[in-house]
Amino acid sequence: MKQIVILGGGFTGLEVAITARKLSNHEITLIDHSPVMTFHGHLHEIVSERITPEEIEIDLNDSLNKRKINFLQAEFQGIKKGYVQTDKKKIPYDVLIIAMGSKTCFSIKGMKNCDELKTSKQARMLHEHLMNLDKARIAIVGAGLTGTELVFEIDYLGKKYDKNFIIHLIEASSGPMPHFPQKAVDIVKNNLEEKDIVQHYNNKILKCNPKELIFDNGTKLDYDLLIWTAGIEPVANAKAYGLKTTHGFIKVNEQLRTSENNIFAIGDIAWIGKESHELWNAMTAIKEGKTAGINAVNYLENKPLINYELDKEHLFLVSLGNRTGLYIKDQKVKAGKIPLLMKSNLRKKYLKERR
Ligand SMILES: Cc1cc2nc3c(=O)[nH]c(=O)nc-3n(C[C@H](O)[C@H](O)[C@H](O)COP(=O)(O)OP(=O)(O)OC[C@H]3O[C@@H](n4cnc5c(N)ncnc54)[C@H](O)[C@@H]3O)c2cc1C
Repeated sequence: MKQIVILGGGFTGLEVAITARKLSNHEITLIDHSPVMTFHGHLHEIVSERITPEEIEIDLNDSLNKRKINFLQAEFQGIKKGYVQTDKKKIPYDVLIIAMGSKTCFSIKGMKNCDELKTSKQARMLHEHLMNLDKARIAIVGAGLTGTELVFEIDYLGKKYDKNFIIHLIEASSGPMPHFPQKAVDIVKNNLEEKDIVQHYNNKILKCNPKELIFDNGTKLDYDLLIWTAGIEPVANAKAYGLKTTHGFIKVNEQLRTSENNIFAIGDIAWIGKESHELWNAMTAIKEGKTAGINAVNYLENKPLINYELDKEHLFLVSLGNRTGLYIKDQKVKAGKIPLLMKSNLRKKYLKERR
């Protein structure tokens, strides 16, 4: 029996483990420092107490043991030829899949004390911080998916508890949700206006002082609470383990294989092919996980590897508070209550199938 080792039990890692188990009897071990898998797309609703952590998490021990997959809760420390080093023990592998995701990129001078939104614990801490404020100038940097959804939740929480929040949304591009169709951008802008969110576009931050942001056009913005949601970078320095990288991400080919034959990399940590990694998202991550699961087994059984095919059309369901959401698929955009219901149903279905 051969050893399949998976580093990271998020969207991609969990999918690899389940897929490889369905296809083979090889020994499979998944390593993660967290005991739970987090469905990130609803973290902002923990901030506004519209959802509990239990409603967006999977207990990795339960889910994996049920499927006869080993789970090791441990901190990844490095890769040596043929084994993974963790803070608990060394795990030998015949094939390794790296799926440790990304972290928020704090690239601005003075930013090091700002928190990111990646776990339920961080979302709970942000909730408690907001509950302790009665009056505050809140600056949210980055109007991508995370920043946009979060702004609406903070506004909802502030109004629910009659707090005096002035919320600023700051984005370096010309509008919210860059990379999305113009119709979606316009709907988001209108909804932000209706909620009296102060919108700052084409505004690049040069420096972050305690309580003050400085922009490249010389203007300044005072804040009491700063939340950073802009940009991502890989969690591990793959170069140090002898793997080829592009812009810091692990470079993989269309079979999701790294520069080492028996090591695959997927999800937010990987860079596919020569093109830029178009979109880092959960749907892509799940599909990559399935492909890597098949290829890990095929590699061990000397069968041909399959190619990963990037979806041309991604479905995005975006919440704009508790009353309305957006359905975005390619250039098709619809707004209303239905996208919110779809988003919630998709999460419940995903979790039910993997718990
Ligand atoms: C707030 C937020 C909202 C999002 N909203 C959406 C959305 O609405 N729609 C969408 O499609 N995508 C969304 N995304 C993006 C999506 O969640 C990611 O693209 C996806 O999670 C990537 O999967 P992954 O497996 O690569 O990484 P992850 O799911 O992050 O999994 C990585 C795993 O590796 C583990 N790990 C990391 N470092 C170590 C270490 N040193 N040792 C051991 N274990 C480690 C982590 O604990 C984690 O379990 C969102 C992301 C965030 C952060």
